[in-house]
Amino acid sequence: METLQVKDKKFAVSIPEAEILKQVKRVAGEINRDYDGREPLFLAVLNGAFIFAADLMKEVVLPSEIQFIKLASYEGTTSTGAVTETIGMTADISGRDVVIIEDIVDTGLTMHHLVDSLSARSPRSIAICSLLVKPANLKIDLDIRYKCFEIPNDFILGYGLDYDGFGRNTRDIYTVVETV
Ligand code: 5GP
Repeated sequence: METLQVKDKKFAVSIPEAEILKQVKRVAGEINRDYDGREPLFLAVLNGAFIFAADLMKEVVLPSEIQFIKLASYEGTTSTGAVTETIGMTADISGRDVVIIEDIVDTGLTMHHLVDSLSARSPRSIAICSLLVKPANLKIDLDIRYKCFEIPNDFILGYGLDYDGFGRNTRDIYTVVETV
């Protein structure tokens, strides 16, 4: 078993690169089919989705644009507690078919807030495309149109995802096995 230590945690490979790329290709095929004849605008959420977005876009054959956005979360006074601000989006999304590219949906609150704030800018449609989803942890009803993998509630890293800033630069996805 190939393990990797990042700071105080030990990780083991849980999804090898070949399996990731197979599922990325499958999802890109679904997007190519669903958006045939349209020109979607992809919004990739930094930092975690940068590798997923790159691999996905290589398989998308539609005329399309991509922008990279960052989300700044802070505690607010809404009922769900967090407010998400979108940084770096210069595109006018009104009338556009928007596809959000995300690394992982955990509670779903981040995506819920992002979809809410994008909806106010009159897009034609919004779809979520997430590399990973932890279904057991979802706190709200969220329509995740495209997903590569459903995973258990364990902390993962690699293929763009980090632990405390490190570990994004691996080809495989790793799951935490031990805190040392
Ligand atoms: P949510 O709002 O859905 O609870 O949180 C989603 C965000 O939490 C992701 O974009 C990611 O930054 C972070 N996250 C959730 N689970 C994991 C995980 O297992 N590993 C890493 N590296 N980040 C995670």
